[in-house]
Amino acid sequence: MLSRLHFAHLPTPIEELPRLSETLGGPRIFVKRDDQTGLAFGGNKTRKLEFLVAEAKDQGADTLISAGAIQSNHCRQTAAAAARFGFKCILVLTGQTPERASANFLLDGLFGAQIITVADRKDRDRILQETFDKAKADGNRPYLVPYGGSSPTGALGYAFAVEEFMKQNVQADWMIFGTSSGGTHAGLVLGQRVFGFKGKVLGISIDESEEWLKEHVSKLASDASEKLGKRIEFTPADVLANADYCRAGYGVLTEAEREAVRLFAKYEGLLLDPVYTGRAAAGLIDLIRAGFFKKNEAVLFWHTGGQPALFADKYSSAI
Ligand SMILES: *Cc1c(COP(=O)(O)O)cnc(C)c1O
Repeated sequence: MLSRLHFAHLPTPIEELPRLSETLGGPRIFVKRDDQTGLAFGGNKTRKLEFLVAEAKDQGADTLISAGAIQSNHCRQTAAAAARFGFKCILVLTGQTPERASANFLLDGLFGAQIITVADRKDRDRILQETFDKAKADGNRPYLVPYGGSSPTGALGYAFAVEEFMKQNVQADWMIFGTSSGGTHAGLVLGQRVFGFKGKVLGISIDESEEWLKEHVSKLASDASEKLGKRIEFTPADVLANADYCRAGYGVLTEAEREAVRLFAKYEGLLLDPVYTGRAAAGLIDLIRAGFFKKNEAVLFWHTGGQPALFADKYSSAI
């Protein structure tokens, strides 16, 4: 039996973006509002955490430990889930401790998470391990929530998201979304196979190479499939990824992200985030302009959340 807690607001709505389509002269665009999943401003990590927190409970854990960037959405949502289900939470965050707490970093504190900052990313894995060991030595029962919630267990959230989408009766030829630690991507690829989605699933890379994503996502999807009862062997060729839009590096805003955030806001009243959905949408916009989609195709843009980062000091001055 699969353990799952039910706290996400599902199904998330699907909306059409006709004014954006028109101004871009492109295909029909729909948006799947996973920014509205309901846990602490929502986002894609909610779906993963339904399975991850259930696993932590099953293992008798009392502490959730995870890691990410200072403005990590994943860590914000993990801290909120910990608060909601009565776990302690420790976060290992990479980057300079901000002078003033804003956005996700501010919220982590409100949820009562203990925060350890690591200036240099190369020390992150070691300090995460030490944090885990110390929590244990102190008599806690920690559960390690992997980066981005992207374990086979976490990926299941997005396999079932495809089932949810199929029941909503919206025809789409493409699913487009930002991909980074790969759990969302792997879940969608698995769900595509298991629930028979006929369109294509294309991840726009936020920070990883196409080769890494294809390798990692296919392995993660294969491992996640086992949890559904029968292993399906996915190969890198089963995974579509585009790494053309991440050259500036993680969290570095370029004119492309700025334009995407502004277009979605101005034509649809819809907010994207600067790091993930802004970059993924910039990729979508560029692909539309380049004639990548046929006029009669429909594109589903999976809005994975992240808007609190709009208010991070680091990004709000640059957007
Ligand atoms: C974490 C995150 C992603 C990337 O999801 P992965 O499963 O890590 O690939 C995309 N968008 C937002 C807003 C996120 O927080």
